[in-house]
Amino acid sequence: MEIIHVSAECYPVAKAGGLGDVVGALPKYQCKAGHFAKVVMPMYRTKFLYNNEWVVDYKGHAYLGEYHFEFTIIKEKTNKLGFDLYLVDINGLLDREKIYGYGDDPQRFIAFQIAVLTWFSSWQHQPDVIHVHDYHAGLIPFMMKNCFVFRKLAFVKTVLTIHNAQYQGNIGWDKYHYLPAFDDFKWGDLDWKNDINPLASAIKCAWKVTTVSQSYMNELRYKSNGLEALFEYEKGKCQGILNGIDNEVWNPATDPYLDYNFTVKGVAAGKKKNKKKICEEYGLDETLPLFVFIGRLVGEKAADILPGAFKNVLYHQHGKACYMVLGSGEKNVENELFNITSDNKGYYNTYIGYDEALSHKLYAAADFLLMPSRVEPCGLNQMYAMRYGTVPVVRSTGGLIDTVTDMGNWEGFGIRFNNATVDDIAHSIWRAIEVYKSKPQMDAMRKRMMQIDHSWESMVEAYTNVY
Ligand code: ADP
Repeated sequence: MEIIHVSAECYPVAKAGGLGDVVGALPKYQCKAGHFAKVVMPMYRTKFLYNNEWVVDYKGHAYLGEYHFEFTIIKEKTNKLGFDLYLVDINGLLDREKIYGYGDDPQRFIAFQIAVLTWFSSWQHQPDVIHVHDYHAGLIPFMMKNCFVFRKLAFVKTVLTIHNAQYQGNIGWDKYHYLPAFDDFKWGDLDWKNDINPLASAIKCAWKVTTVSQSYMNELRYKSNGLEALFEYEKGKCQGILNGIDNEVWNPATDPYLDYNFTVKGVAAGKKKNKKKICEEYGLDETLPLFVFIGRLVGEKAADILPGAFKNVLYHQHGKACYMVLGSGEKNVENELFNITSDNKGYYNTYIGYDEALSHKLYAAADFLLMPSRVEPCGLNQMYAMRYGTVPVVRSTGGLIDTVTDMGNWEGFGIRFNNATVDDIAHSIWRAIEVYKSKPQMDAMRKRMMQIDHSWESMVEAYTNVY
């Protein structure tokens, strides 16, 4: 099958979170399984763009409302990522360093989607599936069905994958003129609660909808930032498919970011060396269990309660563990987390920012990974952690339920708790510190986790069935 993924992110070209990881890996494994999977995304001005070679594939023009724009589609020359990668360049809109966060994001992503469909319409043949990811590509199924200029694509199958339903890309109806002319009777397919809602529109118009874990799929019918009734109504075409992880990128035995590579057999010694290095660098006590938090510092990740939780354990469990935070997001949370550092030298440190290399080093060095998330569609961090022999300490929600079991019995691998509260986090940290005291239990748990198969191979088949 020829499958075209349309996405705002794709690792290693541009990544802000799990969406990038998934779109950078799934197509590669689809190609390995014999499909022709391709990715098309905006041409941001990232390092990857400048460090690779490109050929121009298509030049075209289109309208964003009354604004006429020209666009260019370039293709990466060497198939470096294991699939064909296309970037869409629109001067004045997509030629920025960051992926999101600009005042004109609605116009940027609408223009991107119009350019992509204009390009598809110029093809002699039609792809088997157009697979759109999250709201940034969410208007594509509607436009394919209802915009007169894209009529040629009306019967091409579309699949939407929701990586996070919190973000829906709402725009006011005053911006409807940015879309190419469409059948007026179909305006309801764009609307949700008096706004144009790209995610809701994609749920209505895509042929199939998937999200990144079964538990999250179930949750969406009860808690999805206003879309509950829509998920209930459309449940017949919705399905949860757990994300995989790219075992080639995330392999402690070969990971080039690590100072010391290790395998299942040498996990204890390997992690110890990585931990020593990190502890030296960040002034932490290497003899204590090391807890890390890696992620966006936002409410969904319960980052707002982290400062309180760290203060609590640094006081009540003083000298029994050390902690390291890698993240960026809401400024007040960043500041609060940073401010704890000075009073807790030796036991607590932060790196406020985004650093891919440091994240790999921390998965390898840590004993425990903390994820108190309020919402976690799938969560990749816990899977990376497990692959690197790090025990996940997670709240029971979404994909965390599907991937982590509590070590209450000897078969388990992880610690789970129910509430995103300081008390539950502190109690779980206490449980983790107790487990850490038993070297045989830690060793057994590490080895068990590292051998769990979260590879993409098995998930590719699930997507093929959806197509
Ligand atoms: P989400 O997509 O909701 O942010 P996921 O768990 O699905 O959460 O994916 C998060 C990804 O982003 C992981 O690969 C994680 O390592 C990475 N990540 C998040 N924050 C940072 C950061 N500050 N520095 C480096 N990597 C980060």
